[in-house]
Amino acid sequence: MARIVMKFGGTSVANLERIRHVAGLVAAEVADGHQVAVVVSAMSGETNKLVGFVDELDADSANGGAIEDEYDAIVATGEQVTSGLLAIALRRRGVKARSWLGWQIPLKTDMAHSVARIEDITPDNLDASMTDGNVAVVAGFQGISEDGRISTLGRGGSDTSAVALAVALSADRCDIYTDVDGIYTTDPRIAEQAKRLDRISFEEMLELASLGAKVLQTRSVELAMNNNLPIRVLTSMAEDGVANPGTLVCHEDDTMDERVVSGVAYSRDEAQITLLRLADKPGTVAKICGVMSDANIIVDMIVQGRSRAENAANLTFTVGKRDLPKALEALESAKGKVGFEGIKSDSNVTKVSIVGIGMRSHTGVAQTMFEALAERNINVEVIATSEIKISVLIDSEYTELAVRALHNAFELQNA
Ligand code: ADP
Ligand code: ASP
Ligand code: MG
Repeated sequence: MARIVMKFGGTSVANLERIRHVAGLVAAEVADGHQVAVVVSAMSGETNKLVGFVDELDADSANGGAIEDEYDAIVATGEQVTSGLLAIALRRRGVKARSWLGWQIPLKTDMAHSVARIEDITPDNLDASMTDGNVAVVAGFQGISEDGRISTLGRGGSDTSAVALAVALSADRCDIYTDVDGIYTTDPRIAEQAKRLDRISFEEMLELASLGAKVLQTRSVELAMNNNLPIRVLTSMAEDGVANPGTLVCHEDDTMDERVVSGVAYSRDEAQITLLRLADKPGTVAKICGVMSDANIIVDMIVQGRSRAENAANLTFTVGKRDLPKALEALESAKGKVGFEGIKSDSNVTKVSIVGIGMRSHTGVAQTMFEALAERNINVEVIATSEIKISVLIDSEYTELAVRALHNAFELQNA
């Protein structure tokens, strides 16, 4: 007998028919004698709908301060519905099951409402119920914050709920079921040449996720890596029950090193800000970063260039698209303190990245990347690199073209 955590994303529980199908997949594991905890997302589209309600009211005025605590109370409801529905579908198949909300477990988080981090999971209640033969159907994405309020873990957070539960329950397996049959060399929805990988290292998956591959939430990969818990990503869509084994996300091994580049990711969640004619002297960039961090905004890529004006520089950097209005407001009010003459912004940009652990030991990767982009006349606005990735910021219009060009240039179709 093994203890298994199975996670089902929004498309996998999109309607009652899909929920019945999921109940069948869970029932098959129970029939094999396993103890199962299931983590579910909201039905697809449901969280976006709830976020839309919040945004609409929020836009009425900037009065009254933060609302993230109530945002959480609202957007967490999508998962409550699916956990109850799946528990019913299981019972109707004769499988003992009950639903669990974050606070009932309890899954405790910090106070960072809307992007909370899990601090502790007390598994005793779940443990007792599972040992008694019940399938635990857990509402993903949600927890209870230190002051007893409902919290959520950031978009895509059910992946993290699943991995954290698997760790807390000392599970033998953590299976993430989704609408594609594994991790691909790039998003199969925008490049049909994309190829499924049998295995990928935690490190590469961490980069791909943080650079925009939404198939796993970044924190879920981080948590799995730190606890050495392999994750299997597989499809819930196969009707005949003989789905392929998907992709195993695990520690690096010898076979992986042969790949120079393992994947291409893109993120459309970026916005670019350029400050014009800054004082070209030590401390200016530090001041700008200070303004951004005081406003709780993460700055990602940064590039500084000379301005045509004497003793002046232009600075370009990126922030999350949702943070752009807040960033511009903070910069405008700090204009005198920082010392710049103009400000430009553009949210019609995409960050495209290549990732691979083989980049540590191979040369010429950047050259191949920039040649491939140049051949298609794609202009690069900003560049950022790390040991195992190179990212470029380009005009959003060329997203698909750039992703496909890089996929071909590194021959990922043969991965
Ligand atoms: P779920 O609702 O199951 O959590 P998501 O929509 O969050 O599913 O993630 C699955 C989606 O991730 C896929 O439909 C695919 O379009 C996208 N995706 C992006 N990059 C990749 C990749 N490299 N491999 C597989 N899927 C990817
Ligand atoms: N339903 C949440 C979202 O859409 C969490 C998840 O799907 O993982 O972000
Ligand atoms: Mg997801």
